[in-house]
Amino acid sequence: MSLIVHKYGGTSMGSTERISNVAKRVAKWARAGHQMVVVPSAMSGETNRLLALAKELAPSTLTDSYNRELDMLAATGEQASSALLAIALQAQGLESVSYAGWQVPIRTNSAYTKARIESIDDARVRADLNAGRVVIVTGFQGLDESGNITTLGRGGSDTSAVAVAAAMKADECLIYTDVDGVYTTDPRVVPEARRLQTVSFEEMLEMASMGSKVLQIRSVEFAGKYKVKLRVLSSFTPWDIDINEEAKSGTLITFEEDENMEQAIVSGIAFTRDETKISVLGVPDKPGIAYQILGAVADANIEVDMIIQNISKDGKTDFSFTVNHSDFAKAMDLLKNVVVPKLGAQEVVGDTKICKVSIVGIGMRSHVGVASTMFRVLAEEGINIQMISTSEIKTSVVIDEKYMELAVKALHQAFGLDQVPA
Ligand code: ASP
Ligand code: MG
Repeated sequence: MSLIVHKYGGTSMGSTERISNVAKRVAKWARAGHQMVVVPSAMSGETNRLLALAKELAPSTLTDSYNRELDMLAATGEQASSALLAIALQAQGLESVSYAGWQVPIRTNSAYTKARIESIDDARVRADLNAGRVVIVTGFQGLDESGNITTLGRGGSDTSAVAVAAAMKADECLIYTDVDGVYTTDPRVVPEARRLQTVSFEEMLEMASMGSKVLQIRSVEFAGKYKVKLRVLSSFTPWDIDINEEAKSGTLITFEEDENMEQAIVSGIAFTRDETKISVLGVPDKPGIAYQILGAVADANIEVDMIIQNISKDGKTDFSFTVNHSDFAKAMDLLKNVVVPKLGAQEVVGDTKICKVSIVGIGMRSHVGVASTMFRVLAEEGINIQMISTSEIKTSVVIDEKYMELAVKALHQAFGLDQVPA
């Protein structure tokens, strides 16, 4: 008998009909002899609906001081879907019980709207499993030290499921979602994109942070840290498909030492339009300027991704970096009004029409020339590279936004990602 955790996303829980389908699928797994813990998201649209209500009441003043109540509010979405699923399972003839995060309890820190899980007490859940019940645990929420309800950030139910699986040492955590796995790139951009049977959790981290939003990134970090066997698969297959077939479908997030890893050098192409570029031009080139520019940006809680400093000419240099779209205005303001006057720089220019394209693959560690292939492919398409950054398993470039699709398509083909690796 194994202990299995299932997680169902909002779309999978989107209506009573879909919840009933989820119940039938879970019942199939329970009847096959598995102990089952299920972690559902709120019904699709529900979290947005609730948060929009709050905005109606406090339109322009929705500051951090509201966060405790926002968590109190948003957590109800998962409480409702969990109870509905328990009811649907009982209607299938299974014994089932649902718990809110505070009842388990799932303990978190007090960072409302983005809390982190600190510990999970599994005694209550385990007792139910041993008594033959299917246990439903709300996703997305927990309890802080002072007894307040917290939530884990948007998409946080993935992290709840992985954390429950880790705490209970589950045999596998299956994330059921509205796509059937992790792809070599977004199939909406490249129709030939291929589903990966396996992807290493490090590659998944690089891809998740780059906008292939299949899993909340923190859930992948969690799975890596606690070695949770994690699989992403579709909840839109018929509920009664063969359980052995279902257990092998989707994409398995593996660890590098696993033997059954696919042997591609590049596993995927990730891209994002979420970044913007800021350049500070004509900065006097002397020690400490990087610190003065980036330190001020960091102090304002703005995260910087790529950075380049040009070679200096006549004692002056240019300095460019990228920040998320949502921080662009704030960063420009800060630089124009505070940093540039202080440094005696010439000017600051911003560019929001850029994108970042990355090739990701753990095979890049042991193969040379992968990055240069990327640069050649982009050159052949006449695409100018504005910035480059590399890590052990990723090379990213910043290019003009209008070439994004072209770049992704060309790279996907050049690295043979539409073909199953030998
Ligand atoms: N319901 C929450 C959200 O929409 C958590 C989740 O679905 O994972 O962000
Ligand atoms: Mg999600």
